[in-house]
Amino acid sequence: MIPASFQYLRASTVDEALALLASHGDDAKVLAGGHSLLPLMKLRLAAPEYLVDIGALDELRYVRLEGDEVAIGALSRYSSLVRDPVLLAHAPLLAHVSGLVGDRQVRHRGTIGGSLVHADAAADLPAAILASDAVLVARGPSGERRIPAAEFFLGPFTTPLEPAELLTEIRLPAQTGQGWGFEKFTRRAIDWAMAGVAVTGGRVGLVNLGGVPLRATATEEALAAGASIEDAAALAAEGTNPPDEPHATAEYRRHLARVLTRRALQQAASRS
Ligand SMILES: Cc1cc2nc3c(=O)[nH]c(=O)nc-3n(C[C@H](O)[C@H](O)[C@H](O)COP(=O)(O)OP(=O)(O)OC[C@H]3O[C@@H](n4cnc5c(N)ncnc54)[C@H](O)[C@@H]3O)c2cc1C
Repeated sequence: MIPASFQYLRASTVDEALALLASHGDDAKVLAGGHSLLPLMKLRLAAPEYLVDIGALDELRYVRLEGDEVAIGALSRYSSLVRDPVLLAHAPLLAHVSGLVGDRQVRHRGTIGGSLVHADAAADLPAAILASDAVLVARGPSGERRIPAAEFFLGPFTTPLEPAELLTEIRLPAQTGQGWGFEKFTRRAIDWAMAGVAVTGGRVGLVNLGGVPLRATATEEALAAGASIEDAAALAAEGTNPPDEPHATAEYRRHLARVLTRRALQQAASRS
């Protein structure tokens, strides 16, 4: 449980972080809250030669309402998102989900950007970001680019970010007055979800129903065509491919997807 040796580099500005990443390329990894990367390094599943610590970049910690969009700095921690007044008013799904990640210690260190770049299908924030129709803003040597959330999760732990790019911001349409719901089924309070469902604006994101964070498109299409919540939720597991796990078979998790989707849609209806 001791990581391979590495060189620790601490960036004090975004530009400095980008320069460090550009000069060390594939040999470097970004360190944000460290709550996914450090466990991987301790297990020697990751062994970067250089760690570029961006934890001091307060310029990437903010939530702002800009016109009809909410802009969230990638280094914002769950513990601040859960009580952020802009988020509570204009993106309450994200605030709520941030309060259900791990335990207090995880929420005080973990960042929204770290969760999205880690791209774990079992994580909560990716499903909420998919349901929120967000756009992810990346900066790298050739400038800035915007990646729709629907194109960000390419495979297990895989995103389109280049090694020299930083995720800097998450932007989503303000959800003022929109119904939303979130359901997460765990064995114990702080466990990762066996399955979870995030709903807002008629979109449905699924937690842990396959190798990547997914949208329940059959459910969304049924809702758009006027189906009842019960009928639409019955389609939630279509197109999913959850593996069997020690505490939940694939079929049980598909069953959870249907039940949790119905509950999350009912919550959204009661809030709209
Ligand atoms: C005990 C425990 C329980 C947990 N429970 C849950 C849970 O219930 N639900 C859940 O969703 N998550 C859970 N997590 C994961 C937690 O949410 C992590 O904080 C999160 O996955 C990663 O965020 P981080 O800031 O710690 O990122 P890091 O670990 O620092 O980084 C993760 C990855 O993202 C990259 N990265 C980070 N930031 C950037 C950036 N801005 N630009 C480019 N690359 C970047 C890193 O290089 C690394 O590859 C848990 C973690 C632990 C340790």
